[in-house]
This record gives sequence, C-alpha cells and structure tokens, in this order.
Amino acid sequence: MPTPLPETEDAATAELAALAAAIAHHNQLYHTDDAPEISDADYDALVRRNAAIEAAFPQLIRADSPSVQVGAAPAGHLAKVAHARPMFSLDNAFNAEEVADFLGRVRRYLKLADDDAVALTAEPKIDGLSCSIRYENRRLVRALTRGDGQIGEDVTANVRTIADIPPTLPDDAPDVFEVRGEVYMAKDDFAALNARLLAEAEGTSREARQFANPRNAAAGSLRQKDAAVTRERPLRFFAWGWGETSDLPGDTQSAVIAAIRAWGFPVAEAFRPGGTLEDALATYARIEAERADLRFDIDGVVYKVDRLDWQQRLGFVGRAPRWAIAHKFPAQQAQTTLERIDIQVGRTGKLTPVARLTPVTVGGVVVTNATLHNADEIARLNVWPGDRVVLQRAGDVIPQIVDNLSRDESRGAWPFPAQCPECHSAAEREPGEVDFRCSGGLICPAQRVERLRHFASRHALDIEGLGITNVESFVRDGLIHTPADIYRLTKEALLARERWAEISAQNLIDAIDAKRAPPLDRFLFALGIRHVGEITARDLARRYRTWAAFQDMIARMAARRVDLKPALGESDEKFLARTARELAAIVETPGIGPEVALALADFFAEEHNTQAVADLLGQVTPAELVHETRESPVTGKTIVFTGTLETMSRDEAKAQAEALGARVSGSVSAKTDLVVAGPGAGSKLKKAGDLGIEVIDEAAWAAIVAAST
Ligand code: ZN
Repeated sequence: MPTPLPETEDAATAELAALAAAIAHHNQLYHTDDAPEISDADYDALVRRNAAIEAAFPQLIRADSPSVQVGAAPAGHLAKVAHARPMFSLDNAFNAEEVADFLGRVRRYLKLADDDAVALTAEPKIDGLSCSIRYENRRLVRALTRGDGQIGEDVTANVRTIADIPPTLPDDAPDVFEVRGEVYMAKDDFAALNARLLAEAEGTSREARQFANPRNAAAGSLRQKDAAVTRERPLRFFAWGWGETSDLPGDTQSAVIAAIRAWGFPVAEAFRPGGTLEDALATYARIEAERADLRFDIDGVVYKVDRLDWQQRLGFVGRAPRWAIAHKFPAQQAQTTLERIDIQVGRTGKLTPVARLTPVTVGGVVVTNATLHNADEIARLNVWPGDRVVLQRAGDVIPQIVDNLSRDESRGAWPFPAQCPECHSAAEREPGEVDFRCSGGLICPAQRVERLRHFASRHALDIEGLGITNVESFVRDGLIHTPADIYRLTKEALLARERWAEISAQNLIDAIDAKRAPPLDRFLFALGIRHVGEITARDLARRYRTWAAFQDMIARMAARRVDLKPALGESDEKFLARTARELAAIVETPGIGPEVALALADFFAEEHNTQAVADLLGQVTPAELVHETRESPVTGKTIVFTGTLETMSRDEAKAQAEALGARVSGSVSAKTDLVVAGPGAGSKLKKAGDLGIEVIDEAAWAAIVAAST
C-alpha cells in the first residue's frame, strides 16, 4: 500500500518542502550533471507523491512546485526581473452564488443600485503559463513569466520563438505597452510532443520524460535555458490583458483587447454577456458546452468589469483585483463499469495497466479507457473487472479513476500478470520500484523498434545509416526482428524497396559489415540490458575483457541463484534484495552493485534473450578489450571533476582520466578517490572536504596527465 497522505497542513507543508528540494536535486543531477542517483521509477514516485499531496492540499502548493517545473531545465538559470506593474492573481468563484456575491460587491463598492447593469467581459480561462511581454517603441524588448507576481523570469529569447507573438507592433500602438496573456500548448500538440520525446529518448538505460498535461508541457518548454529547445516546442499564446502602458487604446476592457487583437495577437474569444447575473451565467454555460471541442484546456470563465474607469476605482484587495473573478468549472465526474484490465507494453518494456471501461461521457468527452498507472494503484483502488468506478477529468486530458464504488478489501488486490502480454517473457519488478517490466528485451515486439534503434545507435554498435527511420520501416515490413537480422540484410532486399539505389544500399551493407567485431563494451551496451549504460558496460568489459569470460560469470550467477532460497519469514522483497547482493559479489566489478547484477541475471535468465544473443554471436564476434590505458598514479581510482575547468572541456578531462585507467563519476561519495576542483566548485567540494577526500586543482591534474604521457 502507498504511504498515507499527511494528516495536517503542517505535515503536508514540511513534506512538500522536502519533496521540492529532493526533486530539484535529482533534476540537477539528471539534466546538468548527467549523473542520476536514483532510477526513473524512484524519481517518478517522488513526483507522484508530490502531486498527490498537492491534490489533497491545493492551498499549500509552493511557488516553486516541482509539478510546474518537472521536465524543465533546473530552476534558477533564468534571470529574475521585477515587473513594471505587478501581475495580479484572480479570486475564484465555484458556483452561481459566489458570482452573484462578486457582482453585489462591485455594485456596493461603486454605489450602484441593485438593478444597475454592470457590463462585463467573459473569456475562457486557459490553463497555461502567464507572461508579460513588453514593447518599447513598438519593438519587443522583454518577456517575463508571472513568477510570484512581483518578480518574473526573463524568457525574452524563448518568447521570440513563439509565432503567435509579433516581434513588433504597428505604428499606431503606444510607445510603451506590455501585453499580458497565457503561453499554452494545444491538446493535440501536447500529445504529439510526448510522442516525440518518447521517440527521441536515447536508449541509454533511461526513459523519456513525459509531461503530465499541456500546462506542464507549456511551462517546461518555455522555461528552457536554451531558446532553441523552446523553438522546437509548439507553443501558442492568447492575450487577455496588459501591464504598464504609456497610453491606452480604449476606455473599456473589450476595446483595449480589440486593439491588441488588431496588432496581431490571438485573444481569448471575448464575450460581452450584458449587465446581469443571468447574462453572465448563460455565457458561462455556453463556454462550458464548447469546452470539450476546444483545442486547448480551459478550467473556467473569467469575468471582468468592462469599464476601465470602474476598474480603476475598484482597485485591488491584496494581489487580486476587485473587478475580476474566475468562475471555475466543477471537476467533471461520471460513474461507469470497469470491464477489464489490459496491460500495455511501452517501447522500453514498462508494463502499464489500462482500465477498459463501459463508454461514458465525462464533461462532453466519451471515455472508454483510463490509466491505472501500476500495480500499486490497482491495489490502492482495490479495483477488479466488473467494479463500478468513478471517473474524473480535471485539467488533465487523461481521465483518472478516483474512486471504486465496489470496493471489497476481502478480495485482496487484482493479481498483476506475471508475463508480458506481447511476448510472454517474465514480468519483473525490482526491489523498491513500482513498475513491472517485460524482461524479453531482445524479442518483445513492443520493444523491438526501440531495442534495434539502440543497438545500432552511435554509442552502441554505431552502424551508420541505420537510424530510427530505417529501423522503423524495416521492422514494419518484417525485414528485421532481432539484432542478428541486421547482419542478414542483403543488398538485394534493400534494392527491392522504394527509394533505395545501388549506392545507398551498398553503403548500408558496408556500414553493417564494418561492425562485425565490435569492442566488448559497445556490444554489452548495445544489448540494452536494463541499468547497463555506457559506463557500466565499460566497467564490465574492463573487468572481463572477453565475451567468454563474461559469459562464464553469467553462468556462475545462474548457478548460484538456483541455490538461493528465501529464509523462513523472509519477505519477497528482502529475499530479492539479498539475492541481488549475492549476485553482485559474483560480478565482482568496481562500480557495479546489486541493481545491475540483478538486471544482468534477469536478462540472461530469459531464454528468449539467450537465444537472440546466441543468434547474434553467429554474426558478430565481440573483440577482446585491449589494454588501452596508461599506468599512472590515478589508474583504478574514481575521480570527480567539479567547478569550471579553464583549459579543457569536461569531456576532454573525462577522456584524459579514462585514458589513465581512472573512472569518472558525477557525484562525490565515500568511493571517490580524488576531486579535481576548478573555480566555482560548490557542494561537491564541500562534500569532498567532509569525507576527507583529496582535492587538487586543474594545474595539478594537468601535471599528472603530463607525467604519464
Ligand atoms: Zn514483452
């Protein structure tokens, strides 16, 4: 069972703070240092825990909430700039009475009679990221995110890549004008982006980050350090207001918005609902009815007092204007029957349970499926086929099962399948992980394209001309199924295909033939064994040197595993963890722990995999790793580089260290032997000091390198 949610606000506040710090730390390791300390599944568990607490305590969501920043480059890299005029936030109304109260407050404040009309504008409230875009002399000079309302982040370069935002204003625009609005991502663009991120995820033992919803995708895409990344993301913009201005092109909200539209900005479709409560609510109903058909997510309707002189008089309470309110849509829920639970296999082997539902309309959308995430979620909801469940569509486009009306704990949890539905290989779950994975990596049809692409990729077998496009089309047409099939490709088979000519076909065949004796480390990496990335593959190749010696070690692991039995009263989880430790002792390789050992044993325990490897060994012969390193005082040591290196790149330093037989790590731990610190070294330097690890500067490092040449 998952950990229960915190019971008090204090406990929730403390845990949210701890989660924000932990997630920021792991983002830093993942994105900047390229040295993750925890598995993707553990990372996702932190993110999900954070989201669950935020859902239960929405009032406690932090300004730096990881749910906004997940997938973004680490926070703190964008310059902070004060807004010329604060960006306000809106009060919310959740029902008609609260909208009536809002209108009542406006009338009383302005000393109007109860039946005096108050002209309003109404616009869909778009779920995106608020931005303020400043034009001086009609040129875009700066764009800031909302930030905390007072201080935003400078995203000028990023905003310039958004086609909806004009770089200049026409001659009749004021000298200074800040256009405010929402950067967002359309629902179909969001789905396409997630699909692309998945396709691009290098097969380097890690999975693609996926954005949870269009709002997160918009925020993550806009808040990039490198505007070139933003340019690749399909961001859009709607204007809904303005900040500092030298002049206003109208005396009502709707007139100014009309001018902004005339300058070339998309604006949220503005309605003028007339002056009564009934008019406002009718407009709300109309927008809500259109909600499902919109290309973007909205979560309510914003009413604003149209007259700007009235807005001026009404002013603000705290950060919220008295002249505007957001009328939120209720969460959309419906009941239906869970007909069955299917297991989907992702491109990297992750097994995801999907609820097949009796079709039901939720908020205007017919829903037939909902994700159940993983086995823990199935247990938490206690769902079995045939149960009545409550579905909810919130801001997210993916519907969720939020309750089970047929809950009956005496049934226990629905048993998660022990086999992959695609290839019938064993489904494995590692200690401490939430997801089951198919262990049939080399033969599983669901994983085929990803595995073959990885096999041929630059850091693996490096077969030139065999990229994702060719792999996909060869697999689709049944030309290749396993890595060995690549080596059985013939020029004739290629020439029989469209758009293949003599030269291109010969080039690919030559490129494949050139890789029939790959170095052992590349061969091991290319197999796509879970947790066996480039560094681990190199460590294994250094330790075993030949395929025969490596295979002998695998055989010893298999033999040992047969003898291991759970002790009396030992839980499955504890037994697996103990098994992994025993296996690691057999692998006996520096830098390789129980997690990798277990993954190796599992991979080669799967007969499908051993067959595929044997087949492959009929085509290629892994080359013995020749002693490529020079002896030096750092041979066999683990080194961490930190801070700014002034005479060489980090890559060059790493290559130097490896040529001297040292291992380079991204983080300082008790296993670190030496830290090379340049200017600006921070926490790693401090940690090295705490652990009493030797620290040298770049000049001393250069001397070591020079001495051993
Ligand atoms: Zn499978």
